[in-house]
Amino acid sequence: MEAAETTGGGTGVLEQAAPEAPFERDSALVYFRGQLRPYRECGLGPMTHALHYGTACFEGIRAHWNPARAQLYIFRAAEHYDRLAQSAHILQMKLPLSTEQLCALTRELLQANRFHADVYIRPLVYKSSEEIGVRLHGLEHDLLVYAQPFGHYIEAAAGVRCMVSSWRRVDDNAAPARAKITGTYINAALAKSEAVENGYDEAIVLGQDGHVSEGSAENLFIVRKGTLITPSVSDNILEGITRSTLMQLWSEDLGLPVVERSIDRTELYIADEVFLCGTGAQFTPVVEVDRRTVGSGRIGPYSEALGRLYSKVIMGEVEKYREWCLPVY
Ligand code: PMP
Repeated sequence: MEAAETTGGGTGVLEQAAPEAPFERDSALVYFRGQLRPYRECGLGPMTHALHYGTACFEGIRAHWNPARAQLYIFRAAEHYDRLAQSAHILQMKLPLSTEQLCALTRELLQANRFHADVYIRPLVYKSSEEIGVRLHGLEHDLLVYAQPFGHYIEAAAGVRCMVSSWRRVDDNAAPARAKITGTYINAALAKSEAVENGYDEAIVLGQDGHVSEGSAENLFIVRKGTLITPSVSDNILEGITRSTLMQLWSEDLGLPVVERSIDRTELYIADEVFLCGTGAQFTPVVEVDRRTVGSGRIGPYSEALGRLYSKVIMGEVEKYREWCLPVY
């Protein structure tokens, strides 16, 4: 099947390739217990520790199919695996492979599955011991890597409508937001479902101190008079890879200032532009918060310019950033 046109559209919001159909999950290959196996042969025991206590950490990585180059590019794989190692370290686990080996393994996995469409890659490091007892120490752990074709996580073509969640972000001294820990995602799930079930697209979550932290699974930016503002890494956020990508594009390529500081709730209402970003959500402009329009209520010019550039970068179309794109074939 021909992949759809994937370069950025006029709105600056990424248009993605249609997943190749049909994807047969049961026979898809997964890296599990040290080798590639069909999905249906990957089984975990009912008492697996991570299933009961949330003692696992994960990554979400994307690979983008570039039809003009007939190439699949994994975006910033090394940075994702470095972060996975950090999350694992916080949970007293060590990755069985180096970042370099994990990047090579991921290429092999995508090749073996013969993906020729946009793909989402999900590595998971989990406490694999099958026993009762909530703790981190003295347990075995293992790594799996799963991948599947994947399109939009949020429909963002016209921008999204957000509510400030009644749930607060987990705090570093309770459950660290900077690590991608499976158990901690109950916090994101509570916020997301509250927002969607109240008719919004996404939640914006405040930290314990009342300042903005991030979306349910996205980092957040506001634009005020051409300055890009985002909560700092000590504001209970995930240290997002898309976040750092966009900050670099903003300052180096658009030549505009970036500031990391706390953001008040009402700054969301009066900002010129607001957007969310993440590997799943990609670049997602926000056009409404708590029933107040952001700026004109349409995707703003800065978001359009940044979104368009980001779409080109992840597709391997910008020479300067080609090193971020690991070719699969
Ligand atoms: N915050 C949270 C809570 C997330 O789950 C994600 C998605 N990984 C992000 C931010 C964005 O991070 P990244 O750009 O590295 O995907």
